[in-house]
Amino acid sequence: SAKYEVVIIGGGPIGLACGIEAQKAGLSYVILEKGCLVNSLYNYPANMTFFSTSERLEIGDVPFVSNNAKPTRSEALEYYRRVAIHRKLNVKLFEEVLEVVKADEVYQIKTKKHNYEGKHVVIASGFYDIPHMLGVKGEHLPKVTHYYKDPHFYAFQKVLVVGANNSAVDAALETWRKGAEVTMVIRGEGVGERVKYWAKPDIENRIKEGSIKAYFNSEIAEITEDTVVIKTPEGLVSVENDWVISMTGYQPNLGFLKKVGINLSADEIMKPQYDETSMETNLPNVYLAGVICGGMNTHSLFIENSRVHAERIITKICRGTSF
Ligand code: FAD
Repeated sequence: SAKYEVVIIGGGPIGLACGIEAQKAGLSYVILEKGCLVNSLYNYPANMTFFSTSERLEIGDVPFVSNNAKPTRSEALEYYRRVAIHRKLNVKLFEEVLEVVKADEVYQIKTKKHNYEGKHVVIASGFYDIPHMLGVKGEHLPKVTHYYKDPHFYAFQKVLVVGANNSAVDAALETWRKGAEVTMVIRGEGVGERVKYWAKPDIENRIKEGSIKAYFNSEIAEITEDTVVIKTPEGLVSVENDWVISMTGYQPNLGFLKKVGINLSADEIMKPQYDETSMETNLPNVYLAGVICGGMNTHSLFIENSRVHAERIITKICRGTSF
């Protein structure tokens, strides 16, 4: 198996940042990514706009020039790809890591295609892989999606959007603007506090004027081929429906961390155990970087405040191992 000083799991913005820092420090490294380059960003809604300004998404001192105050998904794809080219990053794509096992002084990393050996392992696997399920009958019907892409598909259709945060609000507004008949099902009393400041009045006004129908304090009870049954404070309501876009968030693959041997907190956050200054976990020479560090609390860390993990880890590695 190929040997590296640092094996990085995940080719998202933070995995790439770790690769850049390793490269700068003269360490041999490989980035293993299960999908395409910056796979999570690739799978975001096609018209998605970041809430961060472009300089806050920069990695490896490469400037991110955007025509807009807030860059779009396609600009970000362009940017991270250019960074990977410019830095000649050693990234292996479409190579999912299946196992990390300690073997004496090193770790054996098994992917779908090959085996690797790493003195140090950085896990930067993000949180976009496992959607929060609604747990209702009919959720597995083909008309239900947890990954919204493009509004055109929904033109003149009866669409139900579940959720009240950015992804749900974007999906509701976009599909409504392309002629869909949109109903939102929102668990709380209103649209989420984190909704981008320019989208919040837009959605609230569309709801107020009745263009988009919203059921607050409500949940889905059941999905059938042509209806959705909603549990509202006034009782069960059945609405006609063609498509369900469930935007209820995603969760990191904490099962993978557990399998590797990383301790998780016993509460519902299941926060992985790591040292804040070095990002090293309870396993010697295994580090965490990026949004995965938050456990189920996926909103505390994002690109702009987790870029620093890369420097922390490589600084620790350069200072010597804990073996
Ligand atoms: P990710 O980008 O998720 O990268 C992890 C990578 O690991 C993925 O490419 C995944 O395919 C790969 N991977 C997972 N498991 C394996 C495995 N076993 N083997 C190999 N590879 C694996 N953040 C901001 O800072 N600003 C924003 O404006 C912003 N907007 C967002 C909008 C949306 C719709 C969403 C969902 C998130 C947004 N975020 C934003 C959060 C942002 O996605 C994360 O901050 C960012 O992607 C974190 O980078 P990461 O490298 O930690 O994780």
